Amino acid sequence: MKKALLMTPGPSQVPPQVLQAMAEPIFHHRTAEYKELQSEVTERLKRIFFSSGEVVVLAASGTGAMEASVVNVLGGGRKGLSLEGGKFGQRWGDICQAFGYECERVEIEWGKAANPAVVAERLAANKSIAAVYATLVETSTGVENDIRAIGEAVAGTDAILVVDGISGAGGSELRFDDWGVDILVVGSQKALMMPPGLALAVVSEKARKLIETADRQAYYFDLKKALDKAADSDTPYTPANTLVRALATSLRMIEGEGIEAVFARHRLLAEAMRAGAQALGMKIFAERPAAVVTAIELPESIDGSALSKLLEKKFAVKVAGGQEHLKGRILRVAHMGYCSPSDVIVALSALEMALAELGAKVEPSAAVKAAEAVFARA
Ligand SMILES: *Cc1c(COP(=O)(O)O)cnc(C)c1O
Repeated sequence: MKKALLMTPGPSQVPPQVLQAMAEPIFHHRTAEYKELQSEVTERLKRIFFSSGEVVVLAASGTGAMEASVVNVLGGGRKGLSLEGGKFGQRWGDICQAFGYECERVEIEWGKAANPAVVAERLAANKSIAAVYATLVETSTGVENDIRAIGEAVAGTDAILVVDGISGAGGSELRFDDWGVDILVVGSQKALMMPPGLALAVVSEKARKLIETADRQAYYFDLKKALDKAADSDTPYTPANTLVRALATSLRMIEGEGIEAVFARHRLLAEAMRAGAQALGMKIFAERPAAVVTAIELPESIDGSALSKLLEKKFAVKVAGGQEHLKGRILRVAHMGYCSPSDVIVALSALEMALAELGAKVEPSAAVKAAEAVFARA
């Protein structure tokens, strides 16, 4: 028997109600029943993202919607500007490169946030930039970027702002219309409390105009086709209707709690996780730490992969290690979606026990105590 606690930044824990929704009999998608479902999901997504844009639901992992946001926008002399502060930011530039699109890649030191002033400078210097590609939560470093400020730099230019909100959206605060986001990309398996398999793209009117006139190198991921169908709560190809039904369930739960309360819960979980790690003498890697995931810098003496293995083997707590040059150096603990204070307490308790077992000098229960203090104040 293994009762596991999944604290990775995707996939994340899925509530039983959502799992149950997927166990219902399969139904046909060219029906009024499906249209009603897609319409409900669309309206709920618009509300939780504060968006008046149109919503496209794709059967893909999050990266599918990232690719769609490149191939439906760039080309024909239109250039991209990608803000790359980690593995996922780099993906924007990599997608552009894979299709041969021109892209100015702004390299940001891992752990630091994107600088909105740089965005304003680059846009002023190069009028052929049609789209700025940013990341809400850079999951590889635990940084939450200031999308509102980046949006201010893009507003008033002809460029659109495309945001990878795959890990953050639905947990970290994001206000699509007010912050000037034009395309928001989301994946189902992160803060939306869903299994992997759905990718969402929320598209503003400004982005839609750009898409309609683009030299779209896409067939399955043709966003114009998908947007035209979405206007009638439909899809060009077979939707993953089982997952869409599960999404309706998870969105009812999110709206039942209230999106502002969901944001506040994530901020609180993050604060407790940081307090716990700091009580063990460890630093937080991100300069602007995210509400949905915490990257913890490990002491020199600790091998990160041995720590992750021990956490999984002995305590059944699954967290993520570092990627690329951060491999073995950081631990990434997610607190996104279906996550409560008790999950954070359990994860911190396992962390301090595992660290002690690996020989780190940690005060027993210090992390749990610090996290409890945060929850007690709330
Ligand atoms: C998880 C993640 C992705 C990748 O999504 P897939 O669903 O694996 O395609 C992209 N960007 C960010 C910020 C992520 O956290």
